[in-house]
Amino acid sequence: MTKTIGIIGGGIVGSTAAYYLTKNNKNVTVFDDGVGQATSASAGIISPWLSQRRNKEWYFLAKEGAKFYSQLIDDLSQTNETKDVYQKTGTLLYKKNETLLAKLNKLAEDRKVEAPEIGDITVLSKSDIIKLFPEITLEDSALFITGGAKIDGAKLVQMLLNETKKASGTIIKTKITEISYQNEQWHLKEAENTHIFDHLILAGGAWVGDLLRPLDLDVDIRPQKGQLIEIEVPFSTNELPVVMPVGETDIIPFDQGKILIGATHENEQGFDLTPDNSLLQGLKQDATNLLSSIEEASITNTRVGTRAYTSDFSPFFGEVADLPQFLVASGLGSSGLTTGAIIGKTLADWTLEKETNFESYRHLPNQYICSKKSDD
Ligand SMILES: Cc1cc2nc3c(=O)[nH]c(=O)nc-3n(C[C@H](O)[C@H](O)[C@H](O)COP(=O)(O)OP(=O)(O)OC[C@H]3O[C@@H](n4cnc5c(N)ncnc54)[C@H](O)[C@@H]3O)c2cc1C
Repeated sequence: MTKTIGIIGGGIVGSTAAYYLTKNNKNVTVFDDGVGQATSASAGIISPWLSQRRNKEWYFLAKEGAKFYSQLIDDLSQTNETKDVYQKTGTLLYKKNETLLAKLNKLAEDRKVEAPEIGDITVLSKSDIIKLFPEITLEDSALFITGGAKIDGAKLVQMLLNETKKASGTIIKTKITEISYQNEQWHLKEAENTHIFDHLILAGGAWVGDLLRPLDLDVDIRPQKGQLIEIEVPFSTNELPVVMPVGETDIIPFDQGKILIGATHENEQGFDLTPDNSLLQGLKQDATNLLSSIEEASITNTRVGTRAYTSDFSPFFGEVADLPQFLVASGLGSSGLTTGAIIGKTLADWTLEKETNFESYRHLPNQYICSKKSDD
């Protein structure tokens, strides 16, 4: 008999896993609450190569994650128009001074050896920058890499879930309140019903602890609130690159005059999803320093989502001791859209009993999810 697979979470991890499992004719049901989902709130920047993080495992994952998007978008393009979802229009990166910019240029050249996806690398003067992004008013030079991309996270997960449905998967918009393993099957409780599966994939982002702690497990995950704003501008934004100025406020132009500006990183707000007007105005002010013409533009939308962090800022995905037929992923942090699709694909491959490039991650969740009893 065909094994059944339940997936909790319809963000980038859960929806990518569901897409590839149903593509392999597996019997999949996705449960997604969706409130506060990080993927749908995200800024959408896929450009990990010049991160200053020293964690080599993270860099490998992020580099592979960015590369994997070409395959995912190719796969989706067989049956969908993906232009609104993913665009490779490059990234423009600023530094505080010319010396730091030269260092960044060197890092880019070094990393390109193992990551040709980074594309062409050029230091652009102010006059070159204006040819690329005419509205930029900052005088400084910047580094431009052509491989940088942007993703509309909400549209991407919707497309993945639509494809899952077309391939006979089931999507249920609900919150699972309790999970338990009985008679070699996973029992998932929601308001009205209990659903039973042979395998469970828990891709619940910042909320994984809610379901695991009642199983007597300690879970090293904390929430971080992220907010960003959308503005509409009177100039064409279709082909503009993502801009990463000094500081945390990035500028992500999407189609038809829409620009996203963000995001905040708030560690003390728990799962709060209330927009904070003063922080949102601050984001706009930061962006105005770079694009003075947006000063009069009004904020047309705000987004608030909850990122998941571990105490050492590393994501985890794989198996947990004593939880059979179970895979989990969480802790993807602020680069989780970049890493989330390859993580979802890896969870699908493991469920299909295929080997992956991430075997060293397989038991990593045990560092973040431990039995409370072992402390006694
Ligand atoms: C404002 C903001 C900007 C960001 N910008 C970027 C960026 O530019 N680039 C980048 O790479 N990353 C970015 N990120 C990070 C990235 O969005 C996340 O790390 C990533 O999307 C996490 O994916 P996920 O699938 O693990 O979790 P989520 O996308 O959070 O999905 C988890 C889903 O599980 C559901 N769920 C949880 N528990 C249950 C339950 N019990 N029952 C049913 N459903 C449940 C939730 O409702 C949610 O829908 C950003 C994040 C934020 C918040």
